[in-house]
Amino acid sequence: MTAILVYSEQLDTALELLGAAQTLAPQLDLTVSAAGLGAEAAPQAAALAARGAAPVYLCTEPALEGLDTGVAAQALAHIAEQAGARLVLLGSTRRGRALAGRLAQRLGAGCVTDASSLAVEDGLLVAGRYNLGGATVQREALTSAVQVVAVMPKVFAADEAGGVGTVVAGADAIVDVSPGLAAPAVRVVDRQPREGETVDLAAAARIVGVGRGLAKRDDVTLGEGLAAALGAELACTKSLADFGWMSDDRIVGLSGAKTSPEVYLAVGISGQVQHTVGMAQARVVAVVNQDKDAPIFALADYGVIGDLYQIVPALIERLKTL
Ligand SMILES: Cc1cc2nc3c(=O)[nH]c(=O)nc-3n(C[C@H](O)[C@H](O)[C@H](O)COP(=O)(O)OP(=O)(O)OC[C@H]3O[C@@H](n4cnc5c(N)ncnc54)[C@H](O)[C@@H]3O)c2cc1C
Repeated sequence: MTAILVYSEQLDTALELLGAAQTLAPQLDLTVSAAGLGAEAAPQAAALAARGAAPVYLCTEPALEGLDTGVAAQALAHIAEQAGARLVLLGSTRRGRALAGRLAQRLGAGCVTDASSLAVEDGLLVAGRYNLGGATVQREALTSAVQVVAVMPKVFAADEAGGVGTVVAGADAIVDVSPGLAAPAVRVVDRQPREGETVDLAAAARIVGVGRGLAKRDDVTLGEGLAAALGAELACTKSLADFGWMSDDRIVGLSGAKTSPEVYLAVGISGQVQHTVGMAQARVVAVVNQDKDAPIFALADYGVIGDLYQIVPALIERLKTL
């Protein structure tokens, strides 16, 4: 077994994993290949090949319609064997976690999901995972002959793929595979757009995060006004989503989005670790909190100690004049 195999149905995540694989490969003495699954995966396969994955295995069999995780695992197991994969890297999304377990079972592989770091120590791959609700990091060494690891999105930067020392391949690096997949157990009968708002916090350049410093549901409009004035997305702590004041899509942290914006403005947020794991990568952190001892100030580049009900309206007015 001589290869690392990278797969995600989302190109950004696949590129993040490719960058990780290219960093790990020389330390493990492995090559880096990738997989594309489904009728529409050809452009993604080409992008991965252009960033140095070789070969990229492309499977477009009709059974992959809808990317049922059982069928996707069947296709990936076939590809992993053809590629001689010792390590398979997947994205630790909801689908990716389900896929990781199914694939590992097919390959008889050791499996880690939700990896927040990857390193090679004494020749072994060691994955970090948040433990005890994010308060600690647990490090797990993989000792099995074949390994499947699902890595949390945003742990590695997508632009690290194709870095120094990568031999850039081309379209001839794409290999079509036809394993003869079984029909999916689930048939897609209809597709409906998701109801309500959707937001991509992971991709946002500016974020205003609001927490329980807001006294009532109507005050969310204060956060909305600040986000609009700053050209930012509005996010929240899990508490506000649990109250039903904001949608789950807007949670930042362990149970929500892992963000890395240019600016994260935390308003009325205490800074519990379950929240900060989702925003500590921000380039600039600004805080408004009335408690000078709130843990969030430990992360702050700029901070205002005071009542958000006085500070936020003043900030909005000032931002409007800029
Ligand atoms: C397994 C698990 C997973 C979790 N996942 C997440 C997650 O993904 N994301 C997440 O956010 N949380 C998560 N939590 C919850 C987390 O532990 C905290 O409870 C939560 O983040 C706290 O939210 P908060 O900062 O809004 O509230 P609080 O901790 O109550 O803080 C409110 C802050 O507002 C300040 N404040 C109050 N009034 C004002 C005012 N008028 N002006 C200015 N400041 C004011 C206070 O000083 C305080 O610092 C998780 C918990 C568990 C157990």
